[in-house]
Amino acid sequence: MSNTRSIANVYAGVPTTDGAGVKLTRMIGTPELDQVDPFLMLDRMDTDEPDAYIAGFPDHPHRGFETVSIMFEGQMHHWDSVGNEGELKPGDVQWMTAGRGIIHSEIPEMLEERLRGFQLWINLPAKHKMVAPKYQDIPADQIPVVTFDGGSVRVIRGTYEELTGPAESLMSVRVLDVNLTTGAGWSISLEDGRNLFLCVHEGSVNSDSREVAAPSIITFDGDGDVQVTAGDSGASILYCEGTALNEPIARYGPFVMNTHSEIRQAVEDFNSGSFGKF
Ligand code: FE
Repeated sequence: MSNTRSIANVYAGVPTTDGAGVKLTRMIGTPELDQVDPFLMLDRMDTDEPDAYIAGFPDHPHRGFETVSIMFEGQMHHWDSVGNEGELKPGDVQWMTAGRGIIHSEIPEMLEERLRGFQLWINLPAKHKMVAPKYQDIPADQIPVVTFDGGSVRVIRGTYEELTGPAESLMSVRVLDVNLTTGAGWSISLEDGRNLFLCVHEGSVNSDSREVAAPSIITFDGDGDVQVTAGDSGASILYCEGTALNEPIARYGPFVMNTHSEIRQAVEDFNSGSFGKF
């Protein structure tokens, strides 16, 4: 019989404002939960106010990590300095390796009554921080789905039940979009020593004898499987797993490097206009 990991902590996230006054909930990258190494940040967008995101996230740089945008409801128009442009529709994922630098703009738009999605930042190790930028737009129909009695799992990155997600990353992370119906159980095996978090973003789950309602981040202790049971209105869960980098982190706005001098260099490079020219 395999072990089951116990809950280390549950975090409610912090309301914050980013971009051009966009209101969101920062779930990771907060004073209480600085990171779940190698995951640096998770922002959750969820609004039914048509004007809440209208100005979006105009031109801004990134260096030193990967950004992942996942849309559930609504869409996001994006553009970048490497020449990519497109529209993320509901269910689509954009996976970008910012590497040594990219400038992009992200403008979410409500399609019906709600806008809902995530932005996740995944750190890169020192040896990959200055790689050339790479970008992937992944339409929903290219994301394999494992269905079972009581739910489904969309495999965005990594392998689950013999299906491998289309996202290419320099990090050996696993990212799954898990949806469970009322009372359904779900468990997943992972290698000992791997880090993970669950972001319960709809409904609620029971895990390790605790009831956790959305929106929440759950972190775990120990090794072994993770087990959850969906609550009365089911559950939607973003599952993220990776191997900790255990490297020093110097973070300044949209730049995440290892040292302060690398951050100074990033700011200088950006100010001198050398970002996004390759
Ligand atoms: Fe961005």
